[in-house]
Amino acid sequence: MSRWSYHLPILGYHRVGLFKGDHVPTVSAEAFERQLAWLSRRRYRVVGLEEVVACLEPGRAVPRRTTVITFDDGYEETHAVAWPLLKRFGFPATVFVTPSEVGLPGFATWEQVRAMAQDGMTIGSHTMHHSYLPLVPPERLPEELQDSKRTIEERIQRPVQFLSYPIGGFTPEVLRVAREAGYLAACTTNRAASLETVDRFALRRIKITDRDAHPLLLRAKLSGYYDLFRRLKQPQ
Ligand SMILES: [Zn+2]
Repeated sequence: MSRWSYHLPILGYHRVGLFKGDHVPTVSAEAFERQLAWLSRRRYRVVGLEEVVACLEPGRAVPRRTTVITFDDGYEETHAVAWPLLKRFGFPATVFVTPSEVGLPGFATWEQVRAMAQDGMTIGSHTMHHSYLPLVPPERLPEELQDSKRTIEERIQRPVQFLSYPIGGFTPEVLRVAREAGYLAACTTNRAASLETVDRFALRRIKITDRDAHPLLLRAKLSGYYDLFRRLKQPQ
């Protein structure tokens, strides 16, 4: 289901907290707080991914100043740093976790993931092993997509409806298996998908790093994204 349409800008975070000198895109707690304060001051509505899916339905108007907050990988700081700040602003968010990494050093534990879920955060799957899916043999895709979904559902006692592809990587076969596994939608990165269509199994995200600490840059990203999709909705 692809169509010309604007969809809501989805912010993609990884780690919020101290930079650990690794490859993980990191936003400091101060910068994250400033970004949330800016969204709040500008009266942005922060909604869940369900609303993005709803906005893809024919005839649905897309509200302005609406955004979605997501986190990949499920780092311990998502629980310790980002979650308390989100709660203070009353913003919902989605956290994509990888069952094989939950509880490892640096990652949130199942208890912490469950606590966030019980508090209204949406928990999604980021595959079983954090695999770059285009390189996974087709016979192993059900494990990455179905088994991860089921494992998380058992742990948090809630349905898991959303998926995030590690490094944004997917193929038509990956999309097919994700649909069959019963996901409602899936997120990629801002690079992976074609600019020509919006597909609920390839929702593009705006990657947020510490370079976006200045609220004006966040604003430029959000409005640029909006304008891009406005143009796509009404191609000249
Ligand atoms: Zn990841």
